[in-house]
Amino acid sequence: MNVHEYQGKELLAKFGVGIPAGIAALTVEEAVAAAKQLPGPLYVVKAQIHAGGRGKGKFKELGPDAKGGVRLAKSIEEVEEFAKEMLGNTLVTIQTGEAGKQVNRLYVTDGVDIAKEYYLSMVVDRGTSRIALIVSTEGGMDIEEVAHSTPEKIATIVIDPVEGFMPHHGRAVGFALNLSGDLNKQAAKIAEQLYNAFVALDCDMLEINPLVETKDGNLLVLDTKMSFDSNSLYRHPDVFALRDETEEDPAEIEASKYDLAYIKLDGNIGCMVNGAGLAMATMDIIKLNGEFPANFLDVGGGANKEKVTAAFKIILKDPAVKGILVNIFGGIMKCDIIAEGIVAAAKEVNLQVPLVVRLEGTNVQQGKDILANSGLPIVAANDLGDAAKKIVAEVRAVA
Ligand code: GDP
Ligand code: MG
Repeated sequence: MNVHEYQGKELLAKFGVGIPAGIAALTVEEAVAAAKQLPGPLYVVKAQIHAGGRGKGKFKELGPDAKGGVRLAKSIEEVEEFAKEMLGNTLVTIQTGEAGKQVNRLYVTDGVDIAKEYYLSMVVDRGTSRIALIVSTEGGMDIEEVAHSTPEKIATIVIDPVEGFMPHHGRAVGFALNLSGDLNKQAAKIAEQLYNAFVALDCDMLEINPLVETKDGNLLVLDTKMSFDSNSLYRHPDVFALRDETEEDPAEIEASKYDLAYIKLDGNIGCMVNGAGLAMATMDIIKLNGEFPANFLDVGGGANKEKVTAAFKIILKDPAVKGILVNIFGGIMKCDIIAEGIVAAAKEVNLQVPLVVRLEGTNVQQGKDILANSGLPIVAANDLGDAAKKIVAEVRAVA
């Protein structure tokens, strides 16, 4: 689960991390009222969407010459002008995709006099099963680009969870950022505070880009991206309360209500599979046959009629779907029960696109008979390769 920048900063502030003063706003009036509470004379008006690259982003409605989603304002009047331009409009950044994201919230902050921008992030490194702290002197810009062209400017510091954050980790951060004196001490301290927050809040990613050195010699967190391990959210009701469903894909929210693991993709073949591994294999084999999956969907072990129907409905809401491939292994579930569910669901949703079904496992023959006798134009497949070939042929025949 992701949160907005202002929410992430408010969480981090509780761990002692220095952030510029700021107030979130949902309307132009709130943005103006927020600015009046800040010292000024420099303010920053920041679009709050779950995507980075806002500063260099473009508003769809405002044309290519308009300013982006992070703007420096020199007066309250300018804050008002920017808030009017941003709220309700669609911001497109390198991370949002072409569709962009509608800006419904702003964060008005105290403008900071920046001397230098640094980069600092933490992720759970699955390779070492440890938290990796990644730092660079090249902050504020696209870190992927830095990693690509000047990888020597990125340092990775791995922290042993048993040992925890030690003074030498802090010194390594200061060294990697080329800091000395008091700034060096501040870097060590802020890195430790961020590590404490990361562990206590069960984050899976925390990115500070930029971490800034101010002209008066302080280190501040200027931008935050934070995501949390969904499996830990039951321990953090305060974090869970920050969820903003308007930032999530509506189909994915609907799927989560039925306990279906659904992720929308860009292709035209809808997939309904039980088991994440089988779902991945199904997507691979569709690609191998020259088409692309429209989604990842794991209906799980206990797929019943209700779940299968919900899954069909979710898949069919995507207008790009030109055919569906069902690939179910009846292990815990029996194939005849699944076949009954598929037939009932296909009738209920009045299925209009080709449907290829591959069933395997317990009672497979009864299952195939049910499909064959259903009166529906269901194409039966014998194995995974056969199923993929058949759905690709069906989709291409329609196109
Ligand atoms: P992002 O574009 O989504 O990553 O948003 P950021 O919050 O990182 O802002 C983008 C850039 O705007 C930063 O890298 C800074 O260069 C600039 N910026 C943001 N806040 C301030 C500020 O308070 N003062 C100044 N001078 N620049 C800022
Ligand atoms: Mg940033």
